Amino acid sequence: MRVAVVSDIHSNLAALDAVLADAGAVDAVWCLGDVVGYGPEPNECIERLRALDAICIVGNHDLAAICQADLDEFHAEAAAAARWTGEQLTPANREWLASRPQRVVLPERRATLVHGSPRDPIWEYVTNAYVAARSLACVATPLCLIGHTHLPSSFLARPTGEIEVALRGPGSVARLDEGQLLANPGSVGQPRDGNPDAAYLIYEPEEGVLTWRRTPYPVEVTQRKILAAGLPPRLARRLAAGW
Ligand code: ZN
Repeated sequence: MRVAVVSDIHSNLAALDAVLADAGAVDAVWCLGDVVGYGPEPNECIERLRALDAICIVGNHDLAAICQADLDEFHAEAAAAARWTGEQLTPANREWLASRPQRVVLPERRATLVHGSPRDPIWEYVTNAYVAARSLACVATPLCLIGHTHLPSSFLARPTGEIEVALRGPGSVARLDEGQLLANPGSVGQPRDGNPDAAYLIYEPEEGVLTWRRTPYPVEVTQRKILAAGLPPRLARRLAAGW
């Protein structure tokens, strides 16, 4: 089985389509939340995932767009985009977002899916070994897939208890037989590691192998749509440099 694991699409359809094309034949698409927010095509991104019958959990920006998260937690541009997104969503897509779970556990695939962290699926950022260790203590599967930080990365708990933190470049591989793993594919639609290419990973559950991948996409297409929608121009600028 081959699974495309995507996260933080942020209404960037050009990036999502590039990832789906680059992934090639897959048996499933798993999405770790923040389908919407920041970008110009919320309905189109949701509809792409619905058409693929993707397993999708909810993120903080998804909840903000449907008025289920406090906009005080957001900086001004994110809040403006959340309000704009809320106005665009069709009733059916709003309902779809509202019915996404915060956590999905797939024991037969050895995986748990959350947006932020297993302790706090919506808001907590896993950025260091300390948080990763506390997080893995709440996970019953060998693998926990997370998003939210927009950084392709992993936190591997060795059987000795040591946590190995790694940023994951394209082509980088992790194996579940090395220990319990927290893995973040990075962001499809708004990478923040200085590389503008869309980030995702391929997971092969039977082999227990994860491979991080990147693909370029027409950034200028999304930038034009952001500006045409009247969204903050900085949200367009940042895509070109990946910040
Ligand atoms: Zn995000």
